[in-house]
Amino acid sequence: MANPTHSSPADAGAAPTPTDFIRDIVTANVAAGKYQKIVTRFPPEPNGYLHIGHAKSICLNFGIAREFRGRCNLRMDDTNPTKEDVEYVDSIQQDVNWLIEDWADDRLGLKPKGKTPEAITVNGQPDFYLGPADPSAAAVEPFYASDYFEQIYQYALQLVRKGKAYVCDHTAEEVDKMRGAPEKASEPSHYRDRSVEESLDLFQRMRAGEFPDGSRTLRAKIDMASPNIWMRDPVIYRIRHSEHHHTGAAWCIYPMYDFAHCLSDYIEGITHSICTLEFEVHRPLYDWILENLGLPRPLPHQFEFARLNVTFTVMSKRKLLQLVNEKIVTGWDDPRMPTISGIRRRGVPARALRQFAYNIGVTKRDSVTDVAVLENIVREDLNRHALRRLGVLRPVKVVITNLPEDHVEEINAINNPEDPAAGTRKVPFSRAVWIERDDFMETPPPKYFRLRPGGEVRLKYGYIIKCDEVVKDAAGQIVELRCTADLGSKAGGPTANRKVKGTIHWVSAAHALEADVRLYDRLFTVAEPDAEGDFKKRINPHSLETVAAKLEPSLAKASDAERYQFERLGYFALDPDSQPGRLIFNRTLTLRDTWAREQQKS
Ligand code: ATP
Ligand code: MG
Repeated sequence: MANPTHSSPADAGAAPTPTDFIRDIVTANVAAGKYQKIVTRFPPEPNGYLHIGHAKSICLNFGIAREFRGRCNLRMDDTNPTKEDVEYVDSIQQDVNWLIEDWADDRLGLKPKGKTPEAITVNGQPDFYLGPADPSAAAVEPFYASDYFEQIYQYALQLVRKGKAYVCDHTAEEVDKMRGAPEKASEPSHYRDRSVEESLDLFQRMRAGEFPDGSRTLRAKIDMASPNIWMRDPVIYRIRHSEHHHTGAAWCIYPMYDFAHCLSDYIEGITHSICTLEFEVHRPLYDWILENLGLPRPLPHQFEFARLNVTFTVMSKRKLLQLVNEKIVTGWDDPRMPTISGIRRRGVPARALRQFAYNIGVTKRDSVTDVAVLENIVREDLNRHALRRLGVLRPVKVVITNLPEDHVEEINAINNPEDPAAGTRKVPFSRAVWIERDDFMETPPPKYFRLRPGGEVRLKYGYIIKCDEVVKDAAGQIVELRCTADLGSKAGGPTANRKVKGTIHWVSAAHALEADVRLYDRLFTVAEPDAEGDFKKRINPHSLETVAAKLEPSLAKASDAERYQFERLGYFALDPDSQPGRLIFNRTLTLRDTWAREQQKS
């Protein structure tokens, strides 16, 4: 096979291929001919939905595979039967595919034929082979660490036979206590010098289900005096008599993360195993296991980068689960959640999320990224791609008294000023239109350029109107505004060039579509909700407001694949809960960053 070369496929947003310390290492490895093919993986544990931090990791791992013409495996890191579930497996697969589907070329993330590795012999030792990528695969399909349980068990038996692992009868609490702390001495297991035969027998009987949960573990025999406590004879297998979402009742012993992860990487032929910084201290163990099994090279290597943190949100799956369970949000895909499914439902395009992941970069320094960085990237993307539409969120009626009762005309409106190819459309206009309640003030402050008694304003794409009369009900509430239109002021008319200071949006009352519009705002009121104390005390009580809006009739055919800008209001996307005749739109973002403005004021 030819050496892969570092190419720079142009992204949809024309982003240059990023450089960072991990890509520098891969580039050097490729130049040195170290690997035939670069293989990365994204290994979520299916114990929750993916969040924006995972999106960073997905873009990094699939991005490297893409740039270096390699492969990236989506792997369910499913070694803990009690916390995992197929609901999470399905959502993870859906989210990964959504994030990369219009980005991946055909080499990326394709699963080899056959689900389980084939047993082969390498250097006289049992080994495993996954086979070539399946070119008929349509989408990224997950691998499962649990598909390797038999292989991983065989590797554990090898370690026992080599005298490098032993069965320990201490309880979890005893193991913990005896392991000590980095500066505190440890006490070796009383079972450390058990014979190979005895450990072999006990480990096989652990597998056969002879012992209860917690009664025994298998531990690697490394170094009880190591300053790195992860090297102090770590537990590599434990007994868990519980059903597994993927392997059912086949197993009652389960490998620990550290043992399963490096071996899963090895079995899949991963070259660069990229994870977050908290695993740095585990790396010596990762290397120890692979080296002490005497596996043929090249071995996978682990590289660590700083995890993504974002202001105004929490990122841990445990806390996100609390928000879901306590019904603070409507579910994992609530558009206020930092989950990939929530972000998607909010209307953020996958392209913008990838652009964000690229822009923030990959470093070894922990930091918190301002959510405004994400929002601004999304705004820029939507400004380029969203179709402009007219919609009124909080309507008040305007009647144009110098038009006949049955007047209807079609007004020409531009679909996207940023994209002439998007063309124009006709919007119906009639004697009564809805305008935004906020676009009229009876006694306005200075510099208020919208509608006022006796004042003039232009209806976007249409006429200049003048407010002659404010009609109120008995309670003093405004019922309608009676106006006259300058009938020559429409585009092409004799007074079209007459200047008025304000232009406002509108929707013809006779043609308006009723829709629920969900106005989302940040879920938390402070930048670092989990800095100290209870993060749930910092929930923004105004993070969702639903209004009954009036929309231009073309939106009856709105598609969830499109993004819309309701002019002067923000960016909106159709919610999947929409029914024909009862549309629901989610506000992705306002047009400008109102939080920044508020912070400047205070
Ligand atoms: P959490 O702590 O929220 O439960 P996790 O790290 O346990 O997340 P995993 O499912 O184990 O979640 O993560 C899968 C991959 O995504 C890992 O390689 C992990 O390093 C990476 N990852 C998780 N959170 C982040 C983050 N905030 N930023 C970047 N990468 C992340
Ligand atoms: Mg984890």
